[in-house]
This record gives sequence, C-alpha cells and structure tokens, in this order.
Amino acid sequence: MRVLLVEDEQSAAKMLAKGLREESYAVDIAGDGETALYQAHLNDYDLIILDVMLPGQDGFEVCRELRANGVAVPILMLTARDAVEDRVEGLNTGADDYLVKPFDFEELLARVRALLRRVPALLPEVITVADLAINTRAQQVSRAGKRVELTTKEYALLEYLARHANEVVSRADIAEHVWDERYDPFSKVIEVFIQRLRRKLDDDRPVKLIRTRRGAGYILSTGDMDDDV
Ligand code: CA
Repeated sequence: MRVLLVEDEQSAAKMLAKGLREESYAVDIAGDGETALYQAHLNDYDLIILDVMLPGQDGFEVCRELRANGVAVPILMLTARDAVEDRVEGLNTGADDYLVKPFDFEELLARVRALLRRVPALLPEVITVADLAINTRAQQVSRAGKRVELTTKEYALLEYLARHANEVVSRADIAEHVWDERYDPFSKVIEVFIQRLRRKLDDDRPVKLIRTRRGAGYILSTGDMDDDV
C-alpha cells in the first residue's frame, strides 16, 4: 500500500512516515500542495494523508483540486483544530475522513486501515491463497497452519501479490505500490525480495505459490497454472 503524506512540518512528516513504514506502508512525502498535486498525478497512490495547514494552497484547496482532477483515492485530512467548520469543510471538499491534531499514532493507523477497508475487495481482513493465510490486520502469515515470520517489506510485497492472486503482477506494479519514490528502477531489489519470500514460503513445499512469468512479472497462484519458474 503506497501512501502520499502531505505535511510541511518536516519533523512531524518524518516521524509519521517512519511509523507508517514500520507498518509496511510505502510512503512518499510532499511538503506543499503543488508538490502533492504533481505526485498524485504521477503515481497511483492507495491513500493520501493531507494536512490542512500548508504553505500556499491549504489542504482544503488541495483536496478540492485532487477530486476535480478525478483522483478517487481515499483522503484522510489532518486538522489542527476540532472546529466544526473545519470538519464540514474537509468533508465537503471530498475528504473521506479527518483526524484532529494532536493524535495518537495508533489512532491514525486505525483510520488508515478503516479507509483502505472501505473498498471491500481491497482489504479483506484475512486473504487466503491455497494453504496460505494472510491476516492483514495483525500482519501475520501462515502456510499450512504454520507461522511464517516476515520482515515488514517482505510482508508488504506478499500482501500486494495476494491481493492480485492469480494475476500477473509486473515489477512496475510492485514498485509503484510496495516501494516509495526512493525505489531505484535499475536495482534488483524486487528480485531479491521475491527470492526471500520463496525461501520462506515455498522451499521444502511440493506446491510452489510464487511463480515467475518471464518478461511479465510474478504470480501468486493457487497451483494449477502453467508457468516458467
Ligand atoms: Ca502543516
């Protein structure tokens, strides 16, 4: 899940981004509205967290413009005051939810998860693919009932593949939704993480779930597909 965080206060932005990355989200930061609009045009985000107090265009204006540009992604607004007018204005401009500063990080996480769950096909609580079970709330993975320990990035990659089970997922798709803007397209980082997942999930098992489609990408499949692993 890739998140655009729009916040001009650098220390606050860094802290939030760090927390979200630890929860396996890929996070890009925009420091003002103009950058946010550009980034949202460039990338296919799964969620936008938008602070109201920004230099230049404020969060309300940015939100209105995003919606006017046809950006349908869930938007969580961060407001400084719990003023009724702010809440109403936020929702009127097309935001999906708002959170009043200061807030607990856990509260933010809960709102983020709730927003991502609103698209029901997007985030079921437990995704199963063959004997693989992924609990998206606890971020726990098991295969044939046995726990598999994954790092946050390995988890994020697996969850993305599982959401698109039995579909070919290209490296570009993975880079866009699992990595953030610091991803180097010339690196082999995706291949490395696929290998790690295979080691943890597929080694020593007769049925391999992670397949490679040469020149196209990867498939997390339930088993009976032609493939060229
Ligand atoms: Ca701000």
